[in-house]
Amino acid sequence: MKKVGFIGWRGMVGSVLMERMKEENDFAHFESYFFSTSQAGEDAPKMANSCGKLLSANDPKELLKMDVLLSCQGGDYTNEIFPKLRNDGWKGIWIDAASALRMKDDAILVLDPVNRDLIQKNIAAGGKNFIGANCTVSLMLIALHGLFKENLVEWVSSMTYQAASGAGAKNMIELLDQMKTVGNSFANGPAKEALELEKQMNAVMASNEFPKANFGHPLALNVLPWIDSEMPSGQSKEEWKAQVEANKILQTATTVPVDGTCVRVGALRCHSQGLTIKLKKSVAPKTVEELISRANPWVDLVPNNKPETLKHLTPAAITGTLRVPIGRVRPMTLGDTFFNAFTCGDQLLWGAAEPLRCVLRMVV
Ligand code: NAP
Repeated sequence: MKKVGFIGWRGMVGSVLMERMKEENDFAHFESYFFSTSQAGEDAPKMANSCGKLLSANDPKELLKMDVLLSCQGGDYTNEIFPKLRNDGWKGIWIDAASALRMKDDAILVLDPVNRDLIQKNIAAGGKNFIGANCTVSLMLIALHGLFKENLVEWVSSMTYQAASGAGAKNMIELLDQMKTVGNSFANGPAKEALELEKQMNAVMASNEFPKANFGHPLALNVLPWIDSEMPSGQSKEEWKAQVEANKILQTATTVPVDGTCVRVGALRCHSQGLTIKLKKSVAPKTVEELISRANPWVDLVPNNKPETLKHLTPAAITGTLRVPIGRVRPMTLGDTFFNAFTCGDQLLWGAAEPLRCVLRMVV
């Protein structure tokens, strides 16, 4: 049996990965070793074929013994440890949720429903580095797979509404702390007119005591239109990833432009995106719907009406599911090659953990 080491298994992505692997009985197929940067020596989670104690994720000696390492720890960790392991001659398979290695030539971006053939070919050819793509990119490609398969997309503009948990466990907890602070101030204050309450809440959000160590700003009662670092292009890094990663996953011969504004919102889990899709030619709305809905087993077309949209096309409706609904699909007044759409998906499942789980099963 192969030895598989898990790093970052207790974070947001790692915890969801563990849940899915238990559901699918994946642990029966290899020996599991659990690593931590902060809790080495403590009890490891009990899985089929797992070892008893947590190993140090900063100890190359232990890591070098693994046939496969799967990291959900983050980019800083990858940048520090991965080159050391390869320099020490480690020939194992590296599977990673972080963005650090995504654009390296020898890294395959994994998204099973969209590029399974490419992944399989790369494994057969001895590929060693399999990296999960950006969550909004993966969810958008699953939703628009049918249009990309037919080579119909000239460009896409995506306006995102990304949940707090997309920034990690500490940030998600901070959003809840912010909401609690707001809620407590509201409950303690005397009953007031709406405008008075709005001023009172803004004062609470602006105070130095407001919990914002992780986001740096209030996210509760607010939106934050910048995710990740600044790029010379004026894009945020999250926005920059959309085009480069989408085209790498699809292996396009000529670049399909993908750009828009990425926004953090106060949803707990699941990312949403409003899409403007420019097609290469005029296509009947019915055909667009058919192509979208039959592209892969995970996409769900939500009819463009108010009751079904509000019931099925929200983060609250799809959290914890592998379904990727897309709705609000309609021609736009901008011209007959422009389509509007809105999609929502669990960024911790198909946006992060599930593509890693699929490639792990393939390599073992
Ligand atoms: P995370 O929740 O911050 O977890 C990363 C590590 O932080 C954990 O493995 C744990 O490591 C440590 N940690 C510290 N305090 C913790 C706490 N209160 N609860 C749990 N863990 C805590 O990070 P993540 O969101 O899973 O992201 C991991 C990587 O995946 C990142 O590179 C991220 O960019 C990428 N990614 C994330 C998402 C998403 O939606 N969150 C989606 C796609 C890709 P130790 O056990 O070693 O202390």
